[in-house]
Amino acid sequence: MITVKQAKQLIQKNVPQPLRKIVSLKEALGLVLAKDISSPFPLPLYDNSAMDGFVLNSKNTLTATKLAPIKLKLGLPIKAGDTKRRMLDKFSATPIMTGAVIPGGADTVLMKEYAEIKEGYLIFKAPYKNNRHIRYRGEEVEKGEVLLSKNEVIHSGTMGVLASIGKGQVPIFKAPQISLMATGTELVSPGKPLRFGKIYDSNSTMIRSALNQMGIHSVDVTRSSDRLELLNQRVKQALNQSDMLILMGGVSVGDYDFVKDVLNHLGVKTIFWKVSQKPGKPIYFGKKGKKLIFGLPGNPASVFTCFYEYVYPAIRQWMGFSKTELPKKKLSLGTEVKGDPFKTIFLKGRIVENKVQLLSKQGSHMLSSLADAHCFIVLPPRQRVYKKNEIVEVHQFFSDERGVLL
Ligand code: AMP
Ligand code: MG
Repeated sequence: MITVKQAKQLIQKNVPQPLRKIVSLKEALGLVLAKDISSPFPLPLYDNSAMDGFVLNSKNTLTATKLAPIKLKLGLPIKAGDTKRRMLDKFSATPIMTGAVIPGGADTVLMKEYAEIKEGYLIFKAPYKNNRHIRYRGEEVEKGEVLLSKNEVIHSGTMGVLASIGKGQVPIFKAPQISLMATGTELVSPGKPLRFGKIYDSNSTMIRSALNQMGIHSVDVTRSSDRLELLNQRVKQALNQSDMLILMGGVSVGDYDFVKDVLNHLGVKTIFWKVSQKPGKPIYFGKKGKKLIFGLPGNPASVFTCFYEYVYPAIRQWMGFSKTELPKKKLSLGTEVKGDPFKTIFLKGRIVENKVQLLSKQGSHMLSSLADAHCFIVLPPRQRVYKKNEIVEVHQFFSDERGVLL
């Protein structure tokens, strides 16, 4: 049986090179940039006012004193969005709005709040400084400057930057087309009545949601009972229409665990089956051409663990992320836990004030603790007890403070 590390390396080796694609700006959120993005023009694009106020030439106020104030005549207002290039009238102060173009011949802006106005004139009782409240052309970004780098993820801030330079189309790495299939004759969709002997299919909803949180929204979700012919037909169809197939259940040694047989029959090459870990020992990974096939053991905790430890990094690698695995942290244990001499153990933990607490209900068939979990506590294969306050590695899937996905 291979180790967790070997399994991860085998998957990494088999993920194809990311492919480029152009998408509309609207579709780019959550994807990864396939090229550096540079600005086609300087930002700001033209000198403009940072305030609502009056634009003037400061030299016209040089001799102003309390006893001999200077009066500047008010001109016609300049609004944000005005397209006419304007010159400042001689000895005038012109109302200007935030974002409006600074007219030629002006060098400063006085805030509306500090203006003294009398009978159509702006009054100065002291000289007013130049260069006030003007946002200068190119002060933020030069023309051609790289604003965003290849392999960066596109989040709401990135979306704003792309929009600010007018990008309607964005070069990204293509996400894989994914099919998700739960297998098991016992499975019933949530919302339907449950007969004796059946259970609700929680895995499909859980993993579809995990994919949605990764920015993958078009997932083909199907289900099959444990009948060989039906399973064969469904898997064949799912394989045809996707780049990556995630099967859940039916990969163990039970008499009705037909997934491996079906995959074999359909020409999928097995890369590994079984990893020395708990939960999720009978995990399967195979390949057909460039298509990747994961068979996750059906127990919900196994599905969840195997998804975040193996499938999540594979998808992120496919999508061009530079960091593919869950974020790792070293934290001190809030409770004593026991390792296993041969297996890597993944336990559900909750992060509280920089300590990791072991949650109760760790059984691989148990789901309820997932609602409280922030991370896996990862114990390498060693026969020993990890004492309270000892430092352990955790792989984090939710933020400890706000409960949001990282
Ligand atoms: P299997 O891997 O098919 O042997 O399933 C292992 C355990 O997980 C069994 O108790 C199944 O009933 C349960 N199980 C399998 N698939 C699902 C699913 N989609 N949702 C909830 N539990 C499941
Ligand atoms: Mg089953």
